Amino acid sequence: MSTVSVVVPCFNEQEVLPLFYDAITKVAADMKARYDVDFEVIFVNDGSRDRTLSIIKEFADKDDRVRYVSFSRNFGKEAAIYAGLEHSTGDFVSLMDADLQDPPELLDKMYRGIVEDGHDCVATCRSTRKGEPPIRSFFARCFYRLINKISKANIVDGARDYRLMKRSMVDAILNMKEYNRFSKGIFGWVGFDIEWIAYENVERAAGQTKWSFWKLFSYSLEGIVAFSTAPLAIASVFGILMCFAALLFLIFVFVKTLVFGDPVAGYPSLICVILFIGGIQLLCLGIIGQYLAKMYLETKKRPIYIVKEEK
Ligand code: UDP
Ligand code: MG
Repeated sequence: MSTVSVVVPCFNEQEVLPLFYDAITKVAADMKARYDVDFEVIFVNDGSRDRTLSIIKEFADKDDRVRYVSFSRNFGKEAAIYAGLEHSTGDFVSLMDADLQDPPELLDKMYRGIVEDGHDCVATCRSTRKGEPPIRSFFARCFYRLINKISKANIVDGARDYRLMKRSMVDAILNMKEYNRFSKGIFGWVGFDIEWIAYENVERAAGQTKWSFWKLFSYSLEGIVAFSTAPLAIASVFGILMCFAALLFLIFVFVKTLVFGDPVAGYPSLICVILFIGGIQLLCLGIIGQYLAKMYLETKKRPIYIVKEEK
């Protein structure tokens, strides 16, 4: 008999956890009856400061399909996903948010996608960006278009982390042990045969989202640094263009001096050129700095998360 592991990252989710538990146990019972599959639910408490952990412990006490991993502090959702995948034992592993924005009822369809249709993974994406601030949608679209141009990881616009994967894909993901984890890129990078299910975005059932616009913005920059080295080439491209422009300008100045003599002037144009080139140099240094910083953190080989307690 096969087992489905459900990995649930939780950060301050006390309002929604009881609702989530009811929903997932119902789906587990349905699927047990229909396909004779076992379930295991792994809650990853990502350093919550509310009652999240004690609620999870209550579930674990009364239900031995429930296990948990509790971090020593908040390590972020990416770390929580990694820990959950590492602790999962099932033949199929699902990632699901605690806030019921990932409808647990879809698991049935995902399971059939893998077992009956032979896919390695069934993943979800939102069908529209309705209800999202237009400025956020705009930046999101630009981001996906850009990152797919400059990186090899196939990153799908509107893809959610909600998915059901075969063990082989989970192992591939666990083999990517980088410290700076950008899951959307990692899922795309490992490949495998993925079927996409689109669904209308659902509002979270209770509690607050942890994402602000700026958090999302810096997250997208992290994604670019993690999955593409194209920005590092910007300096070379600017350098070549500058050399070319300088050559043309040199010819222009030379000819002008020969024809019209050389009245001393040109301070404003000189300042403009100096500022422009200085700006580009600093920009390129900054880009190199970003990669250097990531390399610095990677070379420390710090653990992705630290467990305080688990069951
Ligand atoms: N989450 C987490 N650690 C964090 C932030 C979020 O484990 O530092 C979890 C959170 O509890 C939820 C999921 O990640 O289960 C998605 O978070 P949220 O709903 O805030 O994000 P959104 O759905 O708005 O993208
Ligand atoms: Mg959410």
